[in-house]
Order: sequence, then structure tokens, then C-alpha cells
Amino acid sequence: MMNTEKVAWSGRIVSVQPRIRLIRSFDERSHSYLGYVLRLDGTIADEPGEFIIAIGKAAQAKHRFQVGMEVSGLAIPVADPRRETAGFYKASGLKIRKEAEDDPPAGPPFLGVPPDLETYRSRGHRRLDTRTYDTKCTPCIWGCRMPVEMIIDQWNPSKKRYRFETFCYGPKSCAFYRAGPKRKVPGRKGMSYTEEDWVDEDATAHRGPDE
Ligand code: SF4
Repeated sequence: MMNTEKVAWSGRIVSVQPRIRLIRSFDERSHSYLGYVLRLDGTIADEPGEFIIAIGKAAQAKHRFQVGMEVSGLAIPVADPRRETAGFYKASGLKIRKEAEDDPPAGPPFLGVPPDLETYRSRGHRRLDTRTYDTKCTPCIWGCRMPVEMIIDQWNPSKKRYRFETFCYGPKSCAFYRAGPKRKVPGRKGMSYTEEDWVDEDATAHRGPDE
């Protein structure tokens, strides 16, 4: 049976990033802009450690969560971990226990309150090397680890595969940025599509290097 029991959590925010799902079908892609994910260092269901809570865009607009805040609430374990980077979602009873003390440093990584989801959509992203994301970019508001749903056969869209990919919405001049290997998307009959560098160049061509 699925666990729908609400669990209590509290902790200090160590990262706020957008919650965006990527749907791929061979060379086509689209995004679902779902909200935000808070990574916290604290306690969930009496277990100490780091955990990730998904929240809606209205909750983020209201509370303006950012790194350094101490927060508490309730949440439910996610039903399908292939489709979420968070371990918990449907957060409720959100309370700010303590505001962030300092103004965010200049960065990178870029901290502070992340922008609205429309800003992410209009900025566009570049692929970001997974190891760079893990070692440098997890606290950055411009980093995003997306659950990816891949439709292998467009005539049979229920047949899906899942994985995670990391992206950067930040300034193209960021010294931390590494693209990493090109990404391949599986298709029908063992075919495969390689996403070339021009896809990223195209997606971010409207931005200058420091924007
Ligand atoms: S590479 Fe992107 S996500 Fe990483 S620190 Fe720079 S702007 Fe942030």
C-alpha cells in the first residue's frame, strides 16, 4: 500500500531550486513547471539528515524561501520516485522558524530567493555536468536536477523510460559551469538521438554572457 501518512519535518534550508520535469520524445522536449524543491538539513519523521521537500509555486511566492532559513512543516513520501527529485511532497503547515541572517554572497553559487517559474522558462537552460552539479551547484538557484520522462515510441506513448538530468539556468559566464558529455535520447528500434551543443546555444542565445 502507498504511504500517504503525513510526516513532520524541520530544518535549515541548504538549497532552493525549481521543480521542473522534462518530457523527451526523441529530438523533441517539453517542460512541466511544477514548483520548487527545498533541500533541508534537519529532521524528518524523527530521522536526522538531509532531505528534499517539493512545494508549490504559491507557497514559494508567499514564504520567499531561501538558503539559511529555518523552516518546518508536514509532507507525504512521493508515490513515484522516478518522477520527483524530492523524497516528500504535498507539503502543508509550512512555518518559518528563523529568517536567513545574512545577505547572500555574490556567488557563484548564486543564493537568495529564486525567481518565478516564468523567469526560468524564459531564460532557458544549458546541460550541466552531473558531477559539477553535485559538487558545486546544488545550493545555486540556477541549478536544476530534473526528472526526465522519455517516450521511446510516439505510437505507444505509455511505454516510458525515466532518468534524471542536471541543467543550469544561470549566467553563461559562470566559472563553475561545465557542460559534461552530450546527452543521448533512446528511440524506437534501438535508434538514438544525440542532443548537440547548438540546442543549448539556441535555448540561451537571447542572453548575454553575464545575464
Ligand atoms: S554553473 Fe550554473 S548552477 Fe552552477 S553555480 Fe554556475 S550558475 Fe549556478
